[in-house]
Amino acid sequence: MSPRDAATSANPPVVGLYLRVSEDKSLKAGAASWREVGEEVAAQQDELEGMAAGLGWTVGAIYNDNNTPATDPFIVRKDFEQSLLDLETGTIQGLLFYHSDRLARLEYDAARINRLYQMNAKLVGLSFSGGVDLSQPEGRAMFMMQATMGGMEVASTKRRTTRKNKRLAEKGVMHGAPRPFGWADDRETIHPVESKDLADATRAVPGGKKIGTIRKEWFEKGYQKKQTKKGLERYGERAMPLDHSTVEAILVNPRNCGYMTYLPQSERRDSKKKPWMPDYVVYKDGKPVIGPWQPIVTPDEWAACVEAIKTRKERRKKGLNKPHETSDKYLLSGVARCGKCMFPLTANWYSKQSPSYERYGYRYACLSTLGGCGGVTRVGPPIEELVEAAFLEEVRRSLGSVAKDDEVDETVHDERIAEIEQEIDEVNERRKSKRITLTRALDLMEELETERAELRDERQRLMASKLQQKTEYPTLLREWEKYSIAEKKYRLKQDIRAVIVHPQGRGRRPFNPELIEIEWST
Ligand SMILES: [Zn+2]
Repeated sequence: MSPRDAATSANPPVVGLYLRVSEDKSLKAGAASWREVGEEVAAQQDELEGMAAGLGWTVGAIYNDNNTPATDPFIVRKDFEQSLLDLETGTIQGLLFYHSDRLARLEYDAARINRLYQMNAKLVGLSFSGGVDLSQPEGRAMFMMQATMGGMEVASTKRRTTRKNKRLAEKGVMHGAPRPFGWADDRETIHPVESKDLADATRAVPGGKKIGTIRKEWFEKGYQKKQTKKGLERYGERAMPLDHSTVEAILVNPRNCGYMTYLPQSERRDSKKKPWMPDYVVYKDGKPVIGPWQPIVTPDEWAACVEAIKTRKERRKKGLNKPHETSDKYLLSGVARCGKCMFPLTANWYSKQSPSYERYGYRYACLSTLGGCGGVTRVGPPIEELVEAAFLEEVRRSLGSVAKDDEVDETVHDERIAEIEQEIDEVNERRKSKRITLTRALDLMEELETERAELRDERQRLMASKLQQKTEYPTLLREWEKYSIAEKKYRLKQDIRAVIVHPQGRGRRPFNPELIEIEWST
């Protein structure tokens, strides 16, 4: 009789759950105490109870050999022995176990189990992971292999560690890794200097500060790339700035605002590409899990920084950062356009002989060499001053009119996100108990996972805009003079779509503000 028949028959089998977490591995894998190992056993029990419920089987006994090795033939596992006895006497009609290697690690023990199942075809026995069905001869062969093979052990240790770390992450417990940028060696208290530099940089990114600039500034402050052995051999000892990707990874690290992350070992292996850590925030009940360390920035600040970097990456991918838009040397290049032909104006230096060189330096011009009409030129600094003044005036005006109840609420989707997590569990339960096909389960799960990813993204976007609304404008007014041209330009472009420079006729005339038209973004 196959387990499915048993599940659907009138008398569901009474089964035992066999629980065991191996010896000291849990501690090695990062558990802080035996209490957690106990929880690990409890987690096994949860899974197996869910499995029994899904199959419609009754749980009649729980066998718990926690902290008892199964590899030592001199050690008797009391509950294991009891389970054999109960199977033989019919007290239970089957077993559920987490994985073959939880139930048996010695050939002898595996053979004793198999013997009972061979003798009694009515017994049921399934593993939660590893796909073993003891009621089938092939299943018993698999059981023997999984229980005793060395290679399998390595694989399953990894699997258990991964599951365990994920659970620890959900609880907000850290697992070992090198000291993260911004924190002291205890990984909990913040590093006074690094944390300040990290916070400053994070807050500057949404305003247009580039990673390249941060990289340069940090290098001047003494943050250096750790030289590899290969690099040392090739170039000798020399100071190098942190890689672009390293600085980016530091800035978008969810840890900075206290969020717990969990990166599966398999992802960590691929060292060629740095993972985008915002995708690995651990959520529980729809909300990010907060770790026990001191945060360096607020979740809003972190989200705003992540959004800004993400948007830039996407624009770059789509090729939207056109050459004349990326010039950060001049405030209005790519923003100012020719009033005659609408072609973007280019900053253009006067020749050193010209008296205007001394006075203004450069002008904005519609250059026919680039494809414009050549009909408009205007001195640079006066247009810039005019546009800056108009922009700041507009910012002050809009600040006065922001209503309090306009506040963004980033938690609007939390309930749905939590719901989705539950729905995914339910689908999985239905699949396990074979009430739906694997294909159908995958369809449903993929749909739910996509929705969840979208909502998490949306949450982050909302958080970013909340911050912008609350602090962006006041900060902008306070800090404007300290901003680099790139930062000023970035902010300007949020509100100003274009600056149209109308022709002012032939000959030298004084700068006329009336001929500058500002087109505001709506
Ligand atoms: Zn033109």
